Amino acid sequence: MIKAFIERVLPRKKPVRVEHSGKALGIHSEHMSRNAVYVCEKLQRAGFEAYIVGGAVRDALLGVIPKDFDVATNATPEEVRHEFRRAFIIGRRFKLVHVMFGDETIEVSTFRSNRGGEVEADATGRITSDNVYGTQAEDAARRDFTINALYYDPTKDVVVDFMGGLKDVEKRTLRLIGTAETRYREDPVRMLRAVRLAVKLNCSIAKATATPIREHSELIKNVPPARLFDEIQKLLLSGYANATLAELRKHGLAEGLLPLLDLIYQQPGGQKFIELALDNTDRRVREDKPVSPAFLFASLLWHQVVKRWSEIEARGEHHVPALMLAMEQVIDEQRETITLPQRFAGITREIWLMQPRFEQRTSKAALRMVEQPRFRAAYDFLLLRAAAGEIEQELADWWTNFIESDPDIRQELISQRQRAQLKHGGGTSDAGGRRRRSRGGRGRKRRDDSNDGGTGDTGGSIE
Ligand code: ATP
Ligand code: MG
Repeated sequence: MIKAFIERVLPRKKPVRVEHSGKALGIHSEHMSRNAVYVCEKLQRAGFEAYIVGGAVRDALLGVIPKDFDVATNATPEEVRHEFRRAFIIGRRFKLVHVMFGDETIEVSTFRSNRGGEVEADATGRITSDNVYGTQAEDAARRDFTINALYYDPTKDVVVDFMGGLKDVEKRTLRLIGTAETRYREDPVRMLRAVRLAVKLNCSIAKATATPIREHSELIKNVPPARLFDEIQKLLLSGYANATLAELRKHGLAEGLLPLLDLIYQQPGGQKFIELALDNTDRRVREDKPVSPAFLFASLLWHQVVKRWSEIEARGEHHVPALMLAMEQVIDEQRETITLPQRFAGITREIWLMQPRFEQRTSKAALRMVEQPRFRAAYDFLLLRAAAGEIEQELADWWTNFIESDPDIRQELISQRQRAQLKHGGGTSDAGGRRRRSRGGRGRKRRDDSNDGGTGDTGGSIE
């Protein structure tokens, strides 16, 4: 409180520009994308200042290979566009330029300022528009963490530091620029970024940056759902989803993102299910294999669907229509916090809807099911459920055997099930693997402890 007050009445300390040789810091223009270097050179030749900035500089200094590159310049978006053949201005109020090179896009932003009076904010202090151009020092001050406010000039091979970012790189510390409370109010996503980047970069969060998170976690609710989706997708596809989600929970941030997440964790099988799904995703990301956000969201929301599904069934609705109703309710509720884009929501629904169909092993439907485009993802999801002890492993094994068999053997496997069912005086449906209302790990234990989520090689790799 007192700190925030002092910050308001006293002018912020003027940032001091310090230059360091890249060579001495162990970075080199060869660590950077050739295209990003080219963008800087071209803008500089046209008489502008241009630097590689933010995550790429930070990652290179921390020994992490940067994935995407941003350039900051004093050229306006129109001036930047003029310099390149394939450059597009994006955003209306918050203009940026995307310079395209094959499948790489370099994002170029004009130095911006946080100058009071010209920045629009809502009632909670969240900045809704800050498209005011400024100096490089002002641009540094409006970035989030000190280690994200470093600029690298690849032609001169110098790192420019205004905020003490290099010291924090050395200490591997994430420290917000300015007063944490104010910065979180301006943009609550910074709380998620603090946790995500700390896990990804194996850094600690400075005390003054970490402590106010719990108290301000409610502010996440003010962030537009589409922006939250982008952020949570980054988080889930970082290769450290499991660890990051655990950290978010420690800081009291998880529940606002995925409603009932804490409740899911409390259910006996819930935590295991999500951990298996995320472990599998993390491994795939680290192995550079494709992963599907739709599969991931299917996993994260599944236990809510299951809970709703049994409630609706208990009210007398039929099995599959009850599932459909449950799915729609969960997707609708989720939309209020994180908007699941339609293209993902459609696949997520298909994965869920195929689950009861795996229980039907005595009809020709099983043969047709394998032909469906989402079969592989739905099957991976089935394996995940078995690994979490939610359904009988036998059901998952039967399907594994089924898809690995030749067509005539598949037919024979179905006939075997039909005969077995007749022998046991079978009913109309084959619910052999389903453990209805025993979704909490009471199912048969997995056969091994390999913890691989059982999700084979496609592990939800659709998309
Ligand atoms: P990542 O490794 O996820 O790409 P990043 O820090 O590069 O991390 P970007 O979203 O690419 O994240 O952002 C690029 C830069 O823009 C950041 O390094 C930071 O300087 C600035 N930035 C991003 N988000 C914010 C924010 N919410 N508030 C202030 N500055 C931000
Ligand atoms: Mg980045």
